Parts: sequence; C-alpha cells; structure tokens
Amino acid sequence: TAETDGFRFDNSFARLPPQFFARVDPTPVAEPWLIKLNRPLAEELGLDVATLERDGAQIFSGNSVPAGAAPLAMAYAGHQFGTFVPQLGDGRAILLGEVIDRSGQRRDIQLKGPGQTPFSRRGDGRAALGPVLREYIVSEAMFALGIPATRALAAVVTGQPVYREQILPGAVFTRVAASHIRVGTFQFFAARGDMASVQALADYAIDRHYPEIKNEERPYLAFFKAVVARQAALIARWLHVGFIHGVMNTDNMTISGETIDFGPCAFMDAYDPKKVFSSIDQFGRYAYASQPAIGQWNLTRLAETLVPLFDPVAATAVDLANDALGEYGAIFQRHWLDGMRHKIGLVGDEEGDLDLVQGLLSAMHQGEADFTLTFRRLCECAADPSADVALASLFTNPVAVTSWLADWRKRLEREPGAADDRATAMRAVNPAYIPRNHRIEQAIVAATEDADFSLFEALVDVTSKPYEDQPRFAAYADPPQPEEEVQQTFC
Ligand code: AMP
Ligand code: MG
Ligand code: MG
Repeated sequence: TAETDGFRFDNSFARLPPQFFARVDPTPVAEPWLIKLNRPLAEELGLDVATLERDGAQIFSGNSVPAGAAPLAMAYAGHQFGTFVPQLGDGRAILLGEVIDRSGQRRDIQLKGPGQTPFSRRGDGRAALGPVLREYIVSEAMFALGIPATRALAAVVTGQPVYREQILPGAVFTRVAASHIRVGTFQFFAARGDMASVQALADYAIDRHYPEIKNEERPYLAFFKAVVARQAALIARWLHVGFIHGVMNTDNMTISGETIDFGPCAFMDAYDPKKVFSSIDQFGRYAYASQPAIGQWNLTRLAETLVPLFDPVAATAVDLANDALGEYGAIFQRHWLDGMRHKIGLVGDEEGDLDLVQGLLSAMHQGEADFTLTFRRLCECAADPSADVALASLFTNPVAVTSWLADWRKRLEREPGAADDRATAMRAVNPAYIPRNHRIEQAIVAATEDADFSLFEALVDVTSKPYEDQPRFAAYADPPQPEEEVQQTFC
C-alpha cells in the first residue's frame, strides 16, 4: 500500500494525453540486491528510508512497483550525432512517477534498465553494472560540484546477466530528475506535424519549470529564451570542471537545464580542448571545446519545433527565434568568463582578463597540464609564491606557466582583499576531487569481476566533498599513472 511503501506520488506526466507515453511495467528480475541507497536524497524526497533499506532491492529493481506509481515509458525523438531519428523514446527506462520533495519541487523517479518497453526496438531494455556505477558516481559528483544534474537515488544488481560484447552483470539505476523532458520530446511531435501536442508539452514544461513566465506576452518565446539561458549557463559550468558529456544528442538535453544521461562522459585529466573519450564519438563531434557550439545547435533544433508558437506571422516568428538563438553566445561567454575569472581568483572585471585566462589555458594545453590539479594548486600560489614550483611541475614546459604567473600576480595587485581570503575563495570553486576516469574504471572492474563495491563507495564518498582537502583520500586527487590512463569510455 501507499503507506507501507512511503512514496507519495503525484503523476502529472501520466495525466497528459496518451500520445506522450506508453504505459509499461518493469520486467521482474531473478535475484536483486541493493548496491547503494542514497539516504540523504531519499530523505530530501520525503521517502521512508527504513522501508527502502528493507525493500530497496525489490523496489529499485522494479520487482515491486510502489503503490501510487504510474509506470510509463516516455516518447521522444532526437538527433543522434546529427542524424534525426523520429522515434527513440525510453527503450530502457521506466518512469515510476513524480514526488514533491521537501522544498516543494516536483521530481521524477525513473528506473533505468528495468526491461523492455514499446520503445526498445532491438534493445534488451537492460543496463550493465559498469554504466550504472558510472552514472551513479558522476551524477552525484556533478551535484556536489554545484552543477545542475540528475541525481542517483539507488543502484541494484539484478542477479541476471546482460549480453554486450561480453556477458556482464545486469543492474538497474534509479534516477531522480526535475523532469525527463528533452529537446527530443518536442521533436517527437513536431516531426509528426502535431503542433497541438508541441503546444501542450510547452504548456506543461512552462508550468513545471518556468511558471514565472506564464503571463508574459509571448510565453513560448520566453520559454525558449529561458531554456537557452539555462543551457548556456550549464555548459559553461561543464567547461569550468573539465567535463565532457560525450553524447550531446538532442534527446540528451533537458528542458530543465539539468545535465542528463551520464553515458560515456568523463572529466579530462591533461587539458586538451579537442579531448574526446566516447567510443561512439568517432569524429569528435562532442569534444570538450565543441560543447558550447553543439549546445546552440541543439537549441536551434528546439527552436524549429516551437517557432510556429512564437508569432502567427511566420517571418516574424523566425526573426524572434533567430534573435533568441543569437543571445546564446553572449550568455554562454558571460557565464564562462565569470567562472574562469573566479577560478583564477579575480573578483574585479578588467578588459585584459579574457587574455589572461586564455594565456593560462594555452600554457596548460602546451604543457599537457592536469586541468583539475592546475587550478587547485593555483589556489596555493595565491597565498604563497613558494607553491609555484609544485604548480610548474604539472607542466612539461614550466617556462610558459612561470611567465604567466608573473602576469597574474601583476593583475592581482589591482584586486581587493587579502591573499589568504583569495586562496580560500579559489578553493571553493576549484575542486580537489573529481571522479577521475581511472578511478571509475577501477571501481567498475572491482565490482564487475569481484563483486567488490569498496572502490565505488570510496569514490562516491570522496567526490561528495570535492572542494575540501581530505588527507585520507589524497591519492584520489592524483592524475592517472600512464598505465592507468583510460583512453575510451563506453555507454
Ligand atoms: P542513450 O544513448 O542512452 O541516450 O539512448 C539512446 C536511445 O537508445 C534511447 O531511446 C534508449 O532508450 C535506447 N537504448 C539504449 N540502450 C538500450 C537497451 N539496452 N535497450 C533498449 N533501448 C536502449
Ligand atoms: Mg539518452
Ligand atoms: Mg545513455
């Protein structure tokens, strides 16, 4: 019953017209076992933690569907690596329903890997343990870094194998999201010429994510602009931490502005703007530094679905769409530069700051310096010039960074505040710990081969406080040894 499960569902998406989804139940599994429950998140969602600790394996495997759930697979389309696919949809995910969290926010609870749905095509609807652990680790790390992201509520193993290139343990991931509405959800209806559904979806998304714009003169344009602004801000934040999403298809871009779908994603070690990890990204479409432009490309696809709603006069509507898209670059650049200025300890705003930031990045690129450690060690340099040696040691060519440090210190002379305070402020925006690829890989291998989840637990733990020095976990701040380096990630 609702009382014993402790989920108080209010399923607004299930109340939309039937073309938005297909109702489907999870397919039971043999022998589920709860790897991890995110207790703080469960509490935030108003769930009954004791029940989840007792019955979590059954609930988060999909074996036991909580009372009040309305399990469904969402319909969506999407551009995958630039090619439009008119029907994708949740092929290996089932939305259980929505709960209102303790702060009054509506949150989706979705199982990823619970079996086939009407959108599965040839897929098995299942997830392997490795990708489930990666999504758990990276989405929680993103949240801890302060970057909008879907959350990890639980992970279970199913006790059943999944068949990929190898036979792997099966698992189910429980994802929590502000919603699962994507650019591709709009494309699904637009591709069918169903503007009534596009409009109904926009109304729903406005109500859910942007209620403040409901009474604007052009609500759909205001909605589009709001999505543009959130995505521009989000992608700037990714760049600040060296994050590469890996699969920025339009079905993997949310309307809410949360990072979603942590597939072959990765944080880079040595700084390289062209860096790509994903095994499926052959041409580097979604390389680190390409992400801002791809964001705008995806938003252009969103504009195409909404443009008839902007104005009854087609030419006017197109002009409005172009103007709104034209703002993306400036919004992105403002967020990016603000964040980069904070990373190098600047609170003031001067003409030459962009060049100063670019100067450091090009020294890092040339010197193959570790992205995360460079900025973290720079925090020490702000308070103590004797730390310069440790910073320079990250560069194959230390001369470039040494001359940059001299320019930086000249610029700092015109900054307010004490050096120690600057170092403290810098440590609050430059993480010591990110979920490094080699650590994720080691955690996945131990879990997959030996059912040993201790490395997974440690990595989740250390990355939950990314800005705090944790002497016990000092090694987690280190880049990989050459033999530990991960060249490719898989989804
Ligand atoms: P993704 O790469 O995770 O964004 O997924 C792209 C599309 O492929 C979505 O429609 C997924 O539901 C579908 N998909 C991926 N893996 C599977 C699977 N194992 N079974 C069924 N559908 C899948
Ligand atoms: Mg996806
Ligand atoms: Mg994926």
